[in-house]
Amino acid sequence: MKTCPNHPDKKAEYVCYGCGKYYCKLCLTEEGDYYYCNEPACRELLYAAKHKQLLLPSEVICPNCQSNLKLEDDERESGKIHCPECESFIDFTVVPPVVKNRKEYTQLFSSLNQGDIGIVRSILDDGEIDYYVFGENFLSVDPLIQPAKFFILNEQIDEVKGLLKDFDFKIFGASARRDETD
Ligand SMILES: [Zn+2]
Ligand SMILES: [Zn+2]
Ligand SMILES: [Zn+2]
Repeated sequence: MKTCPNHPDKKAEYVCYGCGKYYCKLCLTEEGDYYYCNEPACRELLYAAKHKQLLLPSEVICPNCQSNLKLEDDERESGKIHCPECESFIDFTVVPPVVKNRKEYTQLFSSLNQGDIGIVRSILDDGEIDYYVFGENFLSVDPLIQPAKFFILNEQIDEVKGLLKDFDFKIFGASARRDETD
């Protein structure tokens, strides 16, 4: 058993949920089922936990393929992650996280327009739609800007088309945006 990095006379028996480092209990704050250390990023997670906001650590392990996934702010807040390694969707809003079968979801549209992306997210959230959005977040992997791709649970596609019928998509139903003129 290692000793606490801050207290050489104490055992590092507890793990911080945010950074995965071990500390003694004096160094950690307990909230819900987890402990949080005093690192700024981990304090941020503690704050979110206290206020019942979902906020994932900036890196998580894919429960399906064990890849290390770096998350963007949107994913940390939504808890719905796409793993580019094993091509699965993972729902981190439940404990333990659930790996979804990607075949149950269909890409309904994509967009490069941040305004559209935000509006569609809020419409889908309000409609309690089961969806994943990804593409915009992998700029470090791919130097080209990727459109955000929205994948909708198959059973909810008709419902989503109804919810969005009044929204003026330039790209509705298309898998890639070709018309860049506004
Ligand atoms: Zn920590
Ligand atoms: Zn300590
Ligand atoms: Zn994976």
